[in-house]
Amino acid sequence: MSINNSILKILNMKDKNLIFNDNFVEERIIKNKRSLIIKGYLKNDFEKCPKCGCINEYTIVKCGTKNSLIKIPKISGLDSYLEIKKQIYKCNICNKKITSTSSIVDYRCRISNNTKLSIINESKKILPHTYIANSHNVSNMTVQRVLDRIYNSEKVYKSYLPENICIDEFTALKRKMAFNICDAENGKTIDIVLDRKIDILENYLNHFLPEVREKVKNVVMDMYKPYLELITKMFVNAKIIIDMFHIVQLMSRSLNKTRIKAMKGDKANYRKYKRYWRLFFKPRLELDSSTWKKYTCFKDLMTEVDVIDYLLSQNEELKNTYELYQSILYALQRKDYDLFTKIINEEYPLISDYMKTTVETLREFSPYIKNTLEQPYSNGVMERNNNTCKLIKRVAFGFRNFNNFKARILFATNVFRPTKKNDDLLFITP
Ligand SMILES: [Zn+2]
Repeated sequence: MSINNSILKILNMKDKNLIFNDNFVEERIIKNKRSLIIKGYLKNDFEKCPKCGCINEYTIVKCGTKNSLIKIPKISGLDSYLEIKKQIYKCNICNKKITSTSSIVDYRCRISNNTKLSIINESKKILPHTYIANSHNVSNMTVQRVLDRIYNSEKVYKSYLPENICIDEFTALKRKMAFNICDAENGKTIDIVLDRKIDILENYLNHFLPEVREKVKNVVMDMYKPYLELITKMFVNAKIIIDMFHIVQLMSRSLNKTRIKAMKGDKANYRKYKRYWRLFFKPRLELDSSTWKKYTCFKDLMTEVDVIDYLLSQNEELKNTYELYQSILYALQRKDYDLFTKIINEEYPLISDYMKTTVETLREFSPYIKNTLEQPYSNGVMERNNNTCKLIKRVAFGFRNFNNFKARILFATNVFRPTKKNDDLLFITP
């Protein structure tokens, strides 16, 4: 391999018209920074004149050169530039001048194409815009422009939806919730809508073709009633699955409120209720009944079961609530739907009001909880996805423009990738 080819390889460029001399590297201070300058010469061979189209029989002649400084990715941590001496030609037939062009940089652009590619790759990571800009020695606006060329909010693909989808929301801008749809299999974001009002979402989902929406089989969601109607209307063949985590969370919250109520009404045991709150939420069967140890707030040696039994014996309402919580939890863990319906359809006059409301909610959603127990899908991937969105937001210290935020999310969750041939969005289907 010749030296010229080796240099091209190091620079990750493929244009054979770029030629390097012996002393091709130089150090220079640019913008008060020690920078590396790679010097090259660019020539073109013409078969015919690109301006008038006449066949070249020694009619196109050399006519001076022109220097241009192009930013390339950093080399060994130093800002690097490619200084190209571009050959200018002149056509003797039409008398027009022709400047040499290359695939490494766009016409009249001062940033090389592989810098742009590197910016795109970096924006898939959870990094702030400013960092990406600084590490490529370009401005913030350049990063934005590069991303805008690939991502266009109007261009989102509307003719594909996966069979199993998750829906959820998160706070995107100040006091503004965003509606997030993702693939339940791999957690890739499909789209994000900056609103959770039902009429706007319905309008949005109508953009998807009806036959696309009919193919959706499962929709995982949390217990938010307005979505229920929306999903039944828009996805006619879909089964609604209530996310298991949200069911348990709902029950835990009401049990916790009951515990706090008991704690506040019982000055003598206040510290015990406060200190051992975690034991209430542990499944009863997982509590330790064999290890005797010293618990702060208790005089004697006790086991976990003893602690919880003592605390429950102090408050009748808490005891009943706790028992109901544990039996529902047991039914859910066993994935026993018959047991679950049997438990929630009984009357419990002695439980706390918080738990009564929860049981009513569970009754209302019980047909969908059946799907939860039968289907393997959960909102786990969605929570991960939402976490990524929040991280991107926090790392960037918030976004002023929602479209920029959305572009970064779609890049980070790897749904779209740029294609070489055109800048259109391309869906990576599983
Ligand atoms: Zn010509």
